[in-house]
Amino acid sequence: MDGEAALARLKAFREELAAWARAVGRAPEEIRLLLASKTVPADVLRAVAAREPLLLGENFAQELKVKAPKLADLPVEWHFIGHLQSNKVKDVLPFVTMIHSLDRPSLARELHKRLTKEGRRLPVLVEVNTSEEPQKHGLPPDEVDAFLTFLRDYPTLSVQGFMTVGPLTSDEDRIRRSFARLRELRDAMQARFPQLPLVHLSMGMSGDWKLAVAEGATILRIGTAIFGPRPT
Ligand SMILES: *Cc1c(COP(=O)(O)O)cnc(C)c1O
Repeated sequence: MDGEAALARLKAFREELAAWARAVGRAPEEIRLLLASKTVPADVLRAVAAREPLLLGENFAQELKVKAPKLADLPVEWHFIGHLQSNKVKDVLPFVTMIHSLDRPSLARELHKRLTKEGRRLPVLVEVNTSEEPQKHGLPPDEVDAFLTFLRDYPTLSVQGFMTVGPLTSDEDRIRRSFARLRELRDAMQARFPQLPLVHLSMGMSGDWKLAVAEGATILRIGTAIFGPRPT
């Protein structure tokens, strides 16, 4: 996949997204499109970012660290969307404006330690395992309340909502229920923690974004639909 092809797909995707959002009663402007750029070479991203500002999401600290400096002259904002090991926090922080995958106290401690040194706050989303598949990252929904209480002692972390990865299944009802669950959890936590701006629901990928939009997604994470299949 080259830059021109990705640009064409991006344009078509934005149009389809706007039409679908309206069809399900959402305002297209309230949904941000994040491009999941893992394995996509920097030169392909450069060709796209040269034409329009991009929000990119990376999964691997090492890949982010190599790619982000190559695009530093372009209007690119980076989010981190993958599982983050505590010893990789230092590699990620210089580049990102949000982390979607905060899922445990040890990671919060490491982030807070580094951010405190830098005198900086960082928007974060708490990753939730809404389908309760054992192999998945993310907190079980019933541990989120206690985790948000714990995070009160980590004021450099600005919790702005939740992230989930839908279950890998063709059963649309199950996928939709997992997204609805994230929205319901957000509503419940917003009532419990009124001081937090829990505005974001990061959910929906290439295969299930329409269901996510219907259930209130504010950030879609789209890779394959724009960049084509990844090398295996
Ligand atoms: C790769 C990835 C995506 C994008 O997946 P596609 O199916 O290629 O759209 C979204 N979120 C996360 C966490 C990912 O790792």
